[in-house]
Amino acid sequence: MLVVMDHNATREEIDAVVIAIEEKGYTARPIPGGERVSIGILNNEGPVDASHFLGLPGVKDAIPVTRPYKLVSREFKPEDTVIQVGGVTIGKDKLTIVAGPCAIESESQALTIANHVKQSGAQLFRGGAFKPRTSPYSFQGLGKEGLIILARVREVTGMPVVTEVMDLETFDLVEEYADMIQIGARNMQNFSLLRRAGHSRKPILLKRGMAATIDEWLMAAEYILESGNSQVILCERGVRTFVHHSRNTLDLSAVPVVRKESHLPIIIDPSHAAGRRDQVIPLSRAAVAVDAHGLMVEVHHQPEKAMSDGAQSLYPDQFDLLCRQVLAIFNHVKEG
Ligand code: PEP
Ligand code: MN
Repeated sequence: MLVVMDHNATREEIDAVVIAIEEKGYTARPIPGGERVSIGILNNEGPVDASHFLGLPGVKDAIPVTRPYKLVSREFKPEDTVIQVGGVTIGKDKLTIVAGPCAIESESQALTIANHVKQSGAQLFRGGAFKPRTSPYSFQGLGKEGLIILARVREVTGMPVVTEVMDLETFDLVEEYADMIQIGARNMQNFSLLRRAGHSRKPILLKRGMAATIDEWLMAAEYILESGNSQVILCERGVRTFVHHSRNTLDLSAVPVVRKESHLPIIIDPSHAAGRRDQVIPLSRAAVAVDAHGLMVEVHHQPEKAMSDGAQSLYPDQFDLLCRQVLAIFNHVKEG
């Protein structure tokens, strides 16, 4: 349930509602809005009786929340969440482009790609230092050395950096270097990792599990918000289906569904969805047309030599074309 306060409710009235909720044994979570404060009721086992709260001073309404997720739902927070990542805005009416190699391989590789993607219009740089690889024989990433290179890229280019955290053991280290921390598809339901992310002050990029429903994905985000971090960006990266023409199937319908159900921003990763370069530009155009808040694209200046995901990495000039095309679509949709 959500207790909606009058727009001119006083601090004392809000505090009194919080106390009344807690006296019933529930958890109260005040959510400041543009116009008024609402107070979410969490940890209730059955339905909550609205009459306990409706008569209290300053209370305007009490709305039952029908979804299993609460803090991430639009019922709880009608306004779009806008997130700042090292000075770059993600959410609402912005289109944010994240780009970079799958894995950081060396300082010169990272800087070469970063300079290319920045020039084309990327606002954030991505690159894996700890890589979740299907095979234990594949390149696992440079680890801490990769993080130090990411910090160097930020220093040289001014672009904030995004990188994946794979486990609790390396969380503190990744958190120290990253401007936004990625939780990958394989870890979407790693609940201890989600709780740790909830204690971070850095924004979290939460990728959809490759076989996760949207409800499961939003519940995973709920873990992070419930643990105290409301800066979550969702990333659709394709789901596993029966087809062989792409690595995964990009679920573009996730964008309107998530935008309806949740106030969190949602971006699209066409690279891991496609698994092959020739589909990345068309899927990116479609992602922007369907109102995604951004894209995350893998780019490499020498994809044939890339240590991971070369087949889906765009050449810099292809990425440049992608940026021009998606920007044209974005501006067209915005004006229409
Ligand atoms: C990645 O972004 O490099 C990655 C491994 O993605 P995913 O978790 O979506 O497979
Ligand atoms: Mn990759």
